Amino acid sequence: MPLYDDSNIFAKILRGDIPCQKVLEGPHVLAFPDLYPKAPTHILVIPKGAYVDIADFGARASEAEITAFWRAVADIAAQAGLKDSGFRVIANAGANGGQEVPHFHVHILGGCPLGPMVSR
Ligand code: AMP
Repeated sequence: MPLYDDSNIFAKILRGDIPCQKVLEGPHVLAFPDLYPKAPTHILVIPKGAYVDIADFGARASEAEITAFWRAVADIAAQAGLKDSGFRVIANAGANGGQEVPHFHVHILGGCPLGPMVSR
């Protein structure tokens, strides 16, 4: 597991160095729209703690952080009106997962049929 590098773009957003349009914020979590949306609704959810990826988050985060994170995902999907039509939650990890930003995040995607889960 690589060490957390706080020069990543989401760490800058958390520090307020780069703006974002907040969709939800709590003590442990922040959510904002993806800058380059891949679907009509494309929201990123990130923990405020410094975790590289989902494996790091699952291994080191407190129960309060983990609960807050996944409750936020559910709340955002509901608030965005995605529950009835359906949606997808993606967590890319590492090189094979195609993770670009090394601060754990999930993508909530919806608003249209999303197609196959994986294309290679
Ligand atoms: P991933 O490939 O899973 O690491 O996804 C990183 C995502 O961050 C991509 O979908 C980018 O479009 C998105 N992104 C990069 N910079 C920003 C930013 N400043 N604000 C919002 N989303 C961003």
